[in-house]
Amino acid sequence: MPNSLPQPNPLPSSPEPSGAQPQDGAAAKRSGEGMDLKQLWEAIRAALKESIPQTPFYTWFQQATLRALEPNEATVAVQNDFTRNWLLDNYHADIRRAVRTVLGRDLAVAIVVDPELAVKRPERKPEPAQAPAAEVPPPAPGVRPGLLATSDVTLNPGYTFDNYVVGPCNRFAHAAAVGVSEAPGRNYNPFFIHGNVGLGKTHLLQSLCHTILDQNPKSNILFLSCETFTNHFIESLRDGDLTEFRHKYRDVDVLVVDDIHMLKNKERTQEEFFHTFNALYNAGKQIVLSSDSPPMDIPTLQERLVSRFKWGLVTEIEPPCYETRMAILKRKCRERGGELPDDVAQTLAERLDSNIRELEGSVNKLLGFSKLMGEPITLELARRCLQDVFTVRTGPISMDDVANAVTSHFDVRLSDLQSKKRTNAIAWPRQIAMFLSRRITKRSLKDIGGFYGGRDHSTVLHAVKKVDTVLTTDATVQDLVADLETRLKRSF
Ligand code: ADP
Ligand code: MG
Repeated sequence: MPNSLPQPNPLPSSPEPSGAQPQDGAAAKRSGEGMDLKQLWEAIRAALKESIPQTPFYTWFQQATLRALEPNEATVAVQNDFTRNWLLDNYHADIRRAVRTVLGRDLAVAIVVDPELAVKRPERKPEPAQAPAAEVPPPAPGVRPGLLATSDVTLNPGYTFDNYVVGPCNRFAHAAAVGVSEAPGRNYNPFFIHGNVGLGKTHLLQSLCHTILDQNPKSNILFLSCETFTNHFIESLRDGDLTEFRHKYRDVDVLVVDDIHMLKNKERTQEEFFHTFNALYNAGKQIVLSSDSPPMDIPTLQERLVSRFKWGLVTEIEPPCYETRMAILKRKCRERGGELPDDVAQTLAERLDSNIRELEGSVNKLLGFSKLMGEPITLELARRCLQDVFTVRTGPISMDDVANAVTSHFDVRLSDLQSKKRTNAIAWPRQIAMFLSRRITKRSLKDIGGFYGGRDHSTVLHAVKKVDTVLTTDATVQDLVADLETRLKRSF
């Protein structure tokens, strides 16, 4: 399978002076002594980046600084109370760990407020592609720009109604999406699509935007993941510019929020979304939402939001039936300039029965393999290329199976996962592997740590907790984990 889902926290190229950036804990420890406060803080920041995903890191640590260092206590200053409380609630342990990594000893960490820091807020540095942008390949050159620049995706030229295979599983959702796109704000408002991962929700949402823009290129469409809405909201609370936030979200013709189920457990963001929703709705603006479950099944979603989400049209995309799977396989292959023989399409359609992204992945892999080998696509070639699809599992899933799935997804070697390497490119796949091993094989933390290079149980526990936390905020990682689990649990 192509490495289509990114890590959530690639290490950005550092904006800080490079001399103070330790590459690993040991180096940091060595360099901790003899540094001034500024250099120490750079080293602590570098250690923090190892454990905190990029977006929250820049949200919460951009303006923080190390104010004082006593023999038993480090004092970190931040710009306001809100940030201080957030760090205390969410990142206190990470900061202590980072301080320990750099100084080689345990210190208490105090967090104080210095409003001066708010004044000189540095520019937020541009980030590498975030989750949704990575899920959607960039548009081909020459494609007209469409969405508002503040959206967090660019429209994928391939995600159109024309390229959407319609079957009994999605006929209604498709027809309704076409209806919405022809008269935004008038037909179904809000328009709410739900269905499992990889069944074509984002594709439909983007098709709808293409059509609206085809009819009216000046339409202001804001397309966001729920995660981005949440992050912007938290940032505006932090910086005290809620008014600007509200303008941004309310001065649009169409608001599309992908994966709205990520609002679960986010009480204040739900509250704000409620007001955004009302403002747009009352102004006759179209609201389009996607989710992995119907409104009433989104855990902790406030009743008033559940009821508003049901005001318009709620529609489900179901897993595709056999005939639709066949049609999708053939279409995807043809779009890529190949032709899938019937027997291969039939076999794949029989075996890959839940997720369209997986169907697409197998077609990509097969086409690449056939080109590489200089052989036409046959059932025999498919058998060699798509071993995991054809393997009959006997017995329970082992740690080896998990490691195989993770290494092939991330294109890393098992020996790297078992090594001491701590770069993000290795540490993140290793954490995913530990998490899945724990969840699926139920082996002990100690066994799992042993398998991954003799690490102790607390390292595994940290990995499990970290992935668990990221899962609650990052829809891409949810997709990744769901995909890996589907592949692992498939048995014939
Ligand atoms: P979701 O948002 O529900 O997780 P996506 O919209 O990202 O799913 O779909 C996953 C992949 O499957 C995309 O590449 C999409 O183009 C493709 N896909 C899904 N449904 C269809 C369909 N009915 N016809 C063609 N391609 C589809
Ligand atoms: Mg999606």
